[in-house]
Amino acid sequence: MQDEKRKPPELGVLSPWAWLVSLVLGLNLAVVVWLWLRDGGITKAHTSADIFTSGGRITGLLAAYSALLQVVLIARIPWVERLTGFDRLTVWHSRNGKACILLLLAHVVLITVGYAETDKVGIGPEISSLLNGYPHIVAATIGTGIMLLVVVSSLVIVRRRLRHEAWYAVHLSVYAGIVLGYLHEVPTGNEFTTGGAPQIYWYALNAATLAALVAFRVLRPLVRAAIHDLRVDRVVTEGPGVTSVYLSGRRLHRLGAHAGQFFVWRFLDRKRVWQAHPFSLSAAPDGRQLRITVKASGDFSRRIADLRPGTRVVAEGPLGTFTTARRRAPSGKVLLVGGGIGITPIRALMETMAGDIVIVHRVVQAGDAGLENELRDLATARGLPLHVLVGDHRDGAAADLLTPDHLRTLVPDVAERDVYLCGPPAMAEAVGRNLRRAGVPRRCLHTERFAL
Ligand SMILES: Cc1cc2nc3c(=O)[nH]c(=O)nc-3n(C[C@H](O)[C@H](O)[C@H](O)COP(=O)(O)OP(=O)(O)OC[C@H]3O[C@@H](n4cnc5c(N)ncnc54)[C@H](O)[C@@H]3O)c2cc1C
Repeated sequence: MQDEKRKPPELGVLSPWAWLVSLVLGLNLAVVVWLWLRDGGITKAHTSADIFTSGGRITGLLAAYSALLQVVLIARIPWVERLTGFDRLTVWHSRNGKACILLLLAHVVLITVGYAETDKVGIGPEISSLLNGYPHIVAATIGTGIMLLVVVSSLVIVRRRLRHEAWYAVHLSVYAGIVLGYLHEVPTGNEFTTGGAPQIYWYALNAATLAALVAFRVLRPLVRAAIHDLRVDRVVTEGPGVTSVYLSGRRLHRLGAHAGQFFVWRFLDRKRVWQAHPFSLSAAPDGRQLRITVKASGDFSRRIADLRPGTRVVAEGPLGTFTTARRRAPSGKVLLVGGGIGITPIRALMETMAGDIVIVHRVVQAGDAGLENELRDLATARGLPLHVLVGDHRDGAAADLLTPDHLRTLVPDVAERDVYLCGPPAMAEAVGRNLRRAGVPRRCLHTERFAL
């Protein structure tokens, strides 16, 4: 049992830190716009050349700010994560990334056109003069190219064709893109060339972003790995292609993990040290050990069974807000739905959630998630109704499973319950839609998709 005195802080509650983070982000945006206004904004623009140039300046400033925001959104800052939840952060990261590249392209076009009009030359000669006559514009152009490549590689249609590792490698190059862009900001930005407070502010903003990235993405996991000495304790085969990894370490209660959350795990052996993968806890953390259960679906997960006891582990997290703190339904009742291996966080929640709880496990074939016996035992021990629904949705016979009507038949008061739904993206989306049609209010539907 968790040591009550060391109970981790409740999730889903906006802490003063979370308010502070929102305030800091909002204030910085206001300062960025103010820098542009202070430099004349649109008021000093009398000719079309001025209007283009002024538009180019504000889009440039906003692009640079949104690039920094991109870094903050994936820096895994715990207060930012608790403010919104990891899944929403990922959505914001993706939207902000697209906004950033649009602002960047607008900046390039508007500045080029504005300068060309001012210099009374064509676009071609102006591009050449920008590249040759201004500091670090070549670097900034390469940076823009890299960022464009990152956004293109993240478009659904392209990402589907790329291996995750290839996509991730391209994605990592965004840091190089940001640095290359940063090089020209102070030497060429009208707002900063005069030095003084704006320049100091810009340096400080970039330094703070870098510090957050290094502190939370690099140092925190390393320090935690040293403090907790997290290691593989044992590896257990649960069924065909399904493996549980038990991890032990020191003072694990201080990780602050809750049932329903996940970590991004990096196993420090020769084969795996370069890859980090997200897996949910498949048992409620008890302060002494952690457990994940992995289904073989690709290169990494297929080889998880060869992990050797004693292997050191670096874990980023705990992440996610798929926890009991999200409960909103006035009835206090809950429906837990897991699709295939998506049962892992549900299994952990079953241990700790109190009240009237119904569980549904949807599998294509019996034994798909390997944890069936354990689920049955736990449900019996806690007196919780468990429905295991077996069948391939492509077969006519299974097509009715988890439709709105079926959901209402299975759990007549489904609309009064909080619903925790976890599974592969397609399943989570389809069942989520059906749950809404069955009357579950949006605020009571909590979804964890097994895809980032
Ligand atoms: C929040 C979350 C919790 C998860 N919990 C579990 C769990 O408890 N048990 C379980 O079996 N699976 C879980 N997954 C899925 C698991 O992370 C992927 O199946 C695994 O990373 C696949 O890696 P692979 O190399 O074996 O397969 P691949 O064939 O390389 O990938 C299969 C799919 O997994 C995704 N993926 C691959 N590598 C990564 C990565 N490093 N980070 C993010 N996504 C990746 C990609 O979308 C890819 O299309 C979870 C995923 C998420 C996002």
